[in-house]
Amino acid sequence: MEVAEKHDHHHHAGHSHTHAGSCFCGAVQFTVNGEPAAMGYCHCESCRTWSAAPVNAFSLWKPESVKITRGGEHIGSYSKTPKSDRKWCKQCGGHIYTVHPHWGLIDVYAAAIPDFPHQAGVHVNYQETKLRMKDGLPKMKDLPKEMGGSGVLIAE
Ligand SMILES: [Zn+2]
Ligand SMILES: [Zn+2]
Repeated sequence: MEVAEKHDHHHHAGHSHTHAGSCFCGAVQFTVNGEPAAMGYCHCESCRTWSAAPVNAFSLWKPESVKITRGGEHIGSYSKTPKSDRKWCKQCGGHIYTVHPHWGLIDVYAAAIPDFPHQAGVHVNYQETKLRMKDGLPKMKDLPKEMGGSGVLIAE
């Protein structure tokens, strides 16, 4: 992740797929660029208790695709486990994203990038669900094999 308030040497005008995001109050501004590695919904207890919501709409990005453009000094961080560094705005408490160092990916919460066209492909950690979602998408018991899970699919 690049915390950049300096100018951006990587900016290519013309073919950017850049979407703006922010925290709840707007003090923290950031962009995501390009295409995410994966999108979906996570039903795990950590996502639910952290977000205070029944499910988390995630989008996973390479770190270089996520840039803080304003208010980086307001970002707080909490790591319950080394697998997730959870980031929020210290001014408003709004959640922004979670860094997953062992995957080399950043989960930007879909709600924090409202004009990004979030298209879920999968539900993960569905064995922990508190809100069944019968949308026809695959329901993984935990995580895909390539993410360290069982790869097992379960019923909606
Ligand atoms: Zn804020
Ligand atoms: Zn989760």
